[in-house]
This record gives sequence, structure tokens and C-alpha cells, in this order.
Amino acid sequence: MTARPFDLGGKVAIVTGGNGGIGLGMAQGLGEAGAAVAIVGRNAAKSEQAIADLKSRGVKAISVSADVTDKDAIGAMVARARSELGRIDILVNNAGMSIRKPPHVLELDEWERVIDTNLTSAFLCSKAVHSAMKDAGGGKVINIGSMMSIFGASFAPAYAASKGGIVQFTRACACAWAADNIQVNAILPGWIDTDLTRRARVEVNGLHERVLARTPAARWGDISDFAGIAVFLASPASDFVTGTAIPVDGGYSIAG
Ligand code: NDP
Repeated sequence: MTARPFDLGGKVAIVTGGNGGIGLGMAQGLGEAGAAVAIVGRNAAKSEQAIADLKSRGVKAISVSADVTDKDAIGAMVARARSELGRIDILVNNAGMSIRKPPHVLELDEWERVIDTNLTSAFLCSKAVHSAMKDAGGGKVINIGSMMSIFGASFAPAYAASKGGIVQFTRACACAWAADNIQVNAILPGWIDTDLTRRARVEVNGLHERVLARTPAARWGDISDFAGIAVFLASPASDFVTGTAIPVDGGYSIAG
């Protein structure tokens, strides 16, 4: 363990979906702990705003436009982050989406869109950074699961399959890459106030109240709640922590 276990000075992080929501919260934390950050997304206006936010915090940040379901775009994204920022030490597989339909109504193309965005992207991005991390002597991969990595939900079959898969993918990579000094962990967010859930709150009657009633902390999570866990899992403080799936949920998953 180093003298400054949470210091990310000199490190470089890629955060997919880092231009908004939970990804931006993690990019803020990583940047404020000293890392240079490449945020990845498709929406140029959102990315521009996120870069301005990060720069106002004194963070060295670039935005790379890429669709994480596109293997070639991922290759180009990793190459650009590496050439502009010099190295890659941390990958956060955060980009995600959901389609709210029960399994007997969901179409195959909708299933594939969710699985490709939430799960296959994590495989492709992790594979794309592996050699850079191995050559540098180690690295950190942080995958974003969900409460639906644990619980069932009638309205989210593809989302739940992708988020359950993220936990097992995390464990597989943790075992495969331990010898390369690459630690791989997952974060399981509870109900967090972002664009994703803002839409659900409008569409689903009573969701807001049900979340408050079930969450011991009695509030929705904020994107700033993800800064600390990101820094921990990206820093030397977690060098002997690998293959875990850590809820950041205000107690939602342990409430009776
Ligand atoms: P947001 O909708 O705010 O953010 C999702 C991000 O993913 C956006 O920045 C978006 O960027 C990016 N993204 C989506 N699809 C693609 C794609 N194909 N290629 C590149 N980027 C993409 O949602 P959250 O912040 O809430 O979600 C972040 C992660 O956290 C997701 O994996 C989600 O499943 C997970 N999560 C969220 C919870 C919550 O309560 N909010 C709870 C549990 C898990 P752009 O618009 O530029 O494409």
C-alpha cells in the first residue's frame, strides 16, 4: 500500500457514459483525485457541458465521441484516449440504457439493443484496454450493475439479464486478469436521480414514493454519491479487492 492510497495523480481513466448521470459523478471523483479523464458518449452537447463542468473543477478531461455498441468505434476511442492522455489505467464501463416491457412483449431487436449497450460493450471495452493495462503493470476496471443484478423486475427482462451478466463478467475478468495486477469490480447503484430514472418516474405511477419508502436512507441517490466508490475502486486502496459487486444504494438491498 502506498503512502497516499487514494491518490490518482498521473493516472488516466476512461468513463463510458461519462457525459452525464452516474458516469459524470464518477468522472468528477476520479478527476478530483488527480486522474486525467476521457469521457465517452454520443450526445455532443451533453459531452461539451460535461467537459466544461470537469474543467471548472480543475480536471484534465477530453471527450471522445463513440457508440459503445460499435467494436470499431471502441478501438478508435481507446486509441485516441491513449494517444492524447498517454496511458490507460482505469476503465469505467458505465454506459447503459433500459427498455421497460415485460418479457412476452419485448422484441428481439430491443433485447439485443439493451444487451449490446449494457453488457457486450463492457466486454468489448475491457478487452480493448487489457494490453495497455497489462503493459503498464496493472489497472482497474469498474463495471456498473444495478439492483436488478440482484432482484427480479417484471418490466426489465433484458436490463436484468445484462446487469446480472455484468456481475458474472466482473468475476470472470477478476480471475483472468489477477495475474496482470488488474482488479475488476462492480458497483450496484440503487435508485439514483438521473435522466434514466427521471423518465421512469414520470411514466411509472408511484415509483418515486415506493423508492423513498423502501430505501433506509429515505432519499434518492445523487450522482455525487458515486465519486468516493469510484476513487476507492480505481486507487491503490483497493489493490487486494477484486471480483466484488458493491451496492451503493442507501440500504435498498438490505431492507426488509
Ligand atoms: P443516464 O441516462 O443519465 O446516462 C447514461 C449514459 O450512457 C449517457 O451518458 C449516455 O451518453 C451513455 N450511453 C448510452 N448508450 C450509449 C452508447 N450506445 N454509446 C455510448 N454511450 C452511451 O443514466 P444513469 O447515469 O442513470 O446510468 C448510468 C449507468 O448506471 C447505467 O449503466 C445504468 O444502467 C446504471 N444504473 C442506473 C441507476 C439509476 O437509478 N439511475 C440504477 C442502477 C444502475 P449519450 O447520451 O451521449 O449517448
